[in-house]
Amino acid sequence: MRILSGIQPSGFLHLGNFFGMMQRGIRWQEKGETFFFIADFHALTSVGDPDALRRNIREAALAFLACGLDPKRAVFFRQSAVPEVLELTWLLSTVTPVGLLERCHSYKDKLAKGIAPTHALFAYPVLMAADILLYQADLVPVGVDQKQHLEVTRDLAVKFNQTFGPVFVVPKEDIAENVAIIPGIDGQKMSKSYGNTLELFGDREEFRRRVMSIRTDSTPVDQPKPVAGSVLVSLYRLVSEPQELEEFIAAMRRGGVGYAALKKELLSKLERFLAPFRERYEELKAKPGLVEEILEEGACTARAAAAPTLESARRAVGLL
Ligand code: ATP
Ligand code: MG
Repeated sequence: MRILSGIQPSGFLHLGNFFGMMQRGIRWQEKGETFFFIADFHALTSVGDPDALRRNIREAALAFLACGLDPKRAVFFRQSAVPEVLELTWLLSTVTPVGLLERCHSYKDKLAKGIAPTHALFAYPVLMAADILLYQADLVPVGVDQKQHLEVTRDLAVKFNQTFGPVFVVPKEDIAENVAIIPGIDGQKMSKSYGNTLELFGDREEFRRRVMSIRTDSTPVDQPKPVAGSVLVSLYRLVSEPQELEEFIAAMRRGGVGYAALKKELLSKLERFLAPFRERYEELKAKPGLVEEILEEGACTARAAAAPTLESARRAVGLL
């Protein structure tokens, strides 16, 4: 079984990335053949600053390693280190209906957030399909925001296979209900590009400030607080035992505890949860050249895995 997932270096990694994808993906290391990559080609659709991109790539790699990715078990690489993915993108483009891409929510959401509607942003799902199909992945751990892109990937794999013969494994998504959409501090999906994140390894004071500014309603201190749809509860649930969660919810329902106190309680839970990962992050950060070495080695393995797929695809369409 081959498991693959990627993350864009479009900013610093956050709790949504961790619970929606990284933690679950990393667990697969024990059971399957895992591939993780930093989607730097994809990040070009939203990051315009080369220095920022370079910094984000390094930070994303450190974050992934600090969260438990083991380069001895998993293949860890940069998307752009395997340029074959762009050739496959082109081959898949020839069976991609424009209407399919026009219906993608992520594209529409990004336009609504003011990101420029470039051809790259529009073609994003085709590159993503190539990322997955190039490595013949069976399973792709993702958050629910990527569900539609996985459907596009499957559609393209099936269409290509029907048109040119069986080249690609048709992959499945691995989405976990309880962590499908982690909310950001404003209540929308937590996203690097929405500026509403709680960063895993960012500045601690900023982290505190952001937790304290999580969106709540104006229920007075002494009144019971609504639990349904509460961002505080959604985040607390991720880092607490069932018993502790029950107590947190009971305190909200009872009233008499203000939002500031609830946020402080959430903050200390989050800090405690993240502490071992942050410690590991600092250790890794101090080792010069380590990240580059790991990514280079991963790229060699990834390229070798990609080559036979690309050759089959070339042969199937008549280029060989
Ligand atoms: P961007 O805003 O640039 O799209 P992002 O924060 O959405 O960045 P991605 O790199 O697009 O992060 O996604 C990486 C992985 O993390 C994907 O599998 C995605 O489904 C998952 N993910 C991202 N945000 C969340 C979230 N809020 N809840 C659950 N999963 C998430
Ligand atoms: Mg995203």
